[in-house]
Amino acid sequence: MLELSGPPVAEAVYQELQTLLATLPYVPHLRVVRLGDDPASVAYVRLKDRQAKRLGLSSQVDVFPESTSQEELLAHIARLNADPEVDGILVQSPVPRQVDFNAVLEAIDPLKDVDGLTPVNAGRMWMGLEALESCTPAGVMRLLKHYQIPLAGKEVVIVGRSNLVGKPLAALMLREHATVTLAHSRTQDLAAVCRRADVLVAAVGKAGLITPEMVRPGAVVVDVGINRVGQNEKGRDILVGDVAPGVAAVASALTPVPGGVGPMTVAMLLYNTVIAAMRRRGRPTGERLQAAR
Ligand code: NAP
Repeated sequence: MLELSGPPVAEAVYQELQTLLATLPYVPHLRVVRLGDDPASVAYVRLKDRQAKRLGLSSQVDVFPESTSQEELLAHIARLNADPEVDGILVQSPVPRQVDFNAVLEAIDPLKDVDGLTPVNAGRMWMGLEALESCTPAGVMRLLKHYQIPLAGKEVVIVGRSNLVGKPLAALMLREHATVTLAHSRTQDLAAVCRRADVLVAAVGKAGLITPEMVRPGAVVVDVGINRVGQNEKGRDILVGDVAPGVAAVASALTPVPGGVGPMTVAMLLYNTVIAAMRRRGRPTGERLQAAR
């Protein structure tokens, strides 16, 4: 079984970005906005900020209280949209109940939408137009490309249809000429649908949902899920994916959790930040953009 490890692929992306950054007469600036103190969000935002700085980008985290109103958040986004020094804006989800995340996404300037989640970038992805692509789906594609997993003409089954992962990943898989099925909580006989897959992607958020019986022998399995199932003796979260451990004995290739898709998500965020800066600041991207993908 081939382990589709994320860190070496993320590192390859960072090396390409470093080469690109050395040619730029400015330092791209990322702004991450976080509301409240949800522990997972705190950890993710810290990771993104640290990686951005490690790469040599300028990065700032704007923290607002849990009680922040939608109007206050939208006013902050308007300021970031108007600030010429800001290249990328990311609002960490989930947001508190009083804030409509879709309204937040609609407010972000699509040219600064480094999470690739605004309706404009989501729509452009579906149309096959140049876009800032959603980070996790773009990361999955980059990972599969690195390990030379063929997609053209293959049956790809994606379990999960969120705007964050499942739907944009389907658009990118279609672009690579896969035959795509999106499964979800109302899918009848999920096991039979999954067994059709040459490439099975789990993006649900339920530990152990994908069992060995649901996987065709020799299939490639991508585990996007991140589930906290307790803490170790050092008080650190124990993380597992959506795929049960026994799947490793059936699949031909599998992404580990942690250390699979997660590092790719952060790498693609920083990729998008550099590309967004280059587009906004009028530098040609063409050839070099392709080379980095
Ligand atoms: P989400 O918005 O909650 O969507 C979950 C999807 O799973 C929904 O489409 C839901 O169907 C479907 N689903 C739920 N129960 C199901 C079942 N029993 N059988 C089949 N489908 C089922 O979650 P998300 O934001 O897409 O995230 C999914 C997972 O990926 C989470 O564990 C999250 O932490 C992880 N994630 C990881 C990364 C990374 O970098 N590795 C990035 C983003 C997310 P309905 O639409 O019918 O409700």
